[in-house]
Amino acid sequence: MRAGRLLSDLARGEQKHVAPPPRRVARVLQRLQNGNEMGRYFRQMIKGMSAALEQAHLAASLDEVPIGAVVMCGDEVIAAAHNETVARQNPTYHAEFLVIERALEALDTDRLTDCTLYVTIEPCAQCAGAIVLAKVKTLVFGAYDEKAGMCGSVGDIVRHPRLNHRVDVQSGVEAEACGELSGNPA
Ligand SMILES: [Zn+2]
Repeated sequence: MRAGRLLSDLARGEQKHVAPPPRRVARVLQRLQNGNEMGRYFRQMIKGMSAALEQAHLAASLDEVPIGAVVMCGDEVIAAAHNETVARQNPTYHAEFLVIERALEALDTDRLTDCTLYVTIEPCAQCAGAIVLAKVKTLVFGAYDEKAGMCGSVGDIVRHPRLNHRVDVQSGVEAEACGELSGNPA
């Protein structure tokens, strides 16, 4: 009995040794952690949009409509595409539409619930629909498309309250560079 009490006293003593740091230290640690997460978030965003812009430039050099898209999973770009409507004579071959297909193939899955899709211009009705069907977690786009954009401009398919999947949307990222490229200044 006494030995048991002694042991539990010792255990309590040990717990004191590994007690959490004082509140002020904990606060500083938390702030650093938040800063790291924020830094990581912005680094990912810059990486994703730069890669999408690269695809848009590639499209321009091929006389395609200069729109580019990539899908990222964590820090990794898993698929990239640009518009191919001219070369393939198919008005549905938009960057987002093609990149979704390639990302699903790369991950060997039928949904992109852990992925972020970056595209230089606000997606149209077809692509917004595909983004919802593929259950993309986050959409990041550059310039708004006042004429055909279905993620806030003409309508909003990706955040429609009656659809069974809603996408987190970040808009206006590198909007100027994206808009200038497509002749559709933000
Ligand atoms: Zn589209």
